[in-house]
Amino acid sequence: MNVAFLGLGAIGAPMAGHLAAPPFALTVWNRTYERACRFVESHAAARVAESPADAVRGADVVITCLPSSREVEALVLSELFDAIPYGALFLDCTSGDPATSRRLAERFAARGVSFLDAPVSGGVIGAEKGKLTVMVGGDAAVLDRARPVLAAFGEKIVHCGAVGAGDALKAVNNALLAIHVWSTAEGLAVLERAGVRADIALDVINTSSGRSNASMNLFPERVLTRAFPRTFRLALLDKDIGIGADLARQEKVPAPIIQLTAELFRMAHAMLGEEADHVEAARLVEQWADVTIGGPRPAAGAPNVMSSNDELEQEL
Ligand code: NDP
Repeated sequence: MNVAFLGLGAIGAPMAGHLAAPPFALTVWNRTYERACRFVESHAAARVAESPADAVRGADVVITCLPSSREVEALVLSELFDAIPYGALFLDCTSGDPATSRRLAERFAARGVSFLDAPVSGGVIGAEKGKLTVMVGGDAAVLDRARPVLAAFGEKIVHCGAVGAGDALKAVNNALLAIHVWSTAEGLAVLERAGVRADIALDVINTSSGRSNASMNLFPERVLTRAFPRTFRLALLDKDIGIGADLARQEKVPAPIIQLTAELFRMAHAMLGEEADHVEAARLVEQWADVTIGGPRPAAGAPNVMSSNDELEQEL
């Protein structure tokens, strides 16, 4: 089966890695060519394409994993549409927006190409282990054809509904992630100010009803350690909760928490930049509260000479 994979970013590369062996014949393309070259250095069976059109020529399945539907649609309209073979499957693993996915599906249908929106969850580690959850929108019979490819990197493949349903579910899931990251940061900042250490707070919260993936994993591993590894860009989470907020408006569902958190992440994105990790949104809460969650503490009895705010201002 000839598979073309376009977009070897933080999650795209490990996903594509699972397709670089029989029964798949993998061709990769990435906007930054050097990144594709690095990919084939560790996946010798894959071929690097010189252009998107070169990548999809002869493909049975085309997979895209780009930042948003905007980049996918631009690539399709500028370079891919005429080059994709009649009868091919187009699987968009981007966390996209439902309206653009529907538009693409309609356009492809006129050319005999079947489209599924197939965003993923599970993060970079899930992608490396081939244990992603794939949420699929589109025709069930098309999903049956796509299943062997999706199963290469997906452990759980869920048919969510018509085209756009996968995108909608992904956007709401990530809206919840954003809400949990922000609210956990707020709660821990309040407790730090009230004299309760974040590690003690999490020890209690994580066996109590306030726990979440943010409190159980993200904050202990990334915030309290001050490691803030960059695995999922804040810019992408801003995009995702924005899609969730738009969806709520389109469906005329009052969703003040989603709308407010979307605003907060838009602000965090603007302040922290394109490369910040999503969990770094906590830095903004820390700055506003003038605390460091789980940060270094002065020795007992010593005046607190360390201004966390100064430190944060340098980092921001
Ligand atoms: P990255 O920012 O790491 O990578 C983005 C990829 O898209 C790169 O290959 C980049 O190419 C390419 N790209 C960017 N702009 C364009 C463009 N205009 N035209 C063509 N290619 C472009 O993103 P991720 O890999 O982290 O995310 C990809 C998708 O997966 C997003 O929709 C994200 O929301 C979703 N996702 C990410 C997760 C994660 O943990 N990282 C988890 C679940 C979903 P270049 O190398 O040239 O910059």
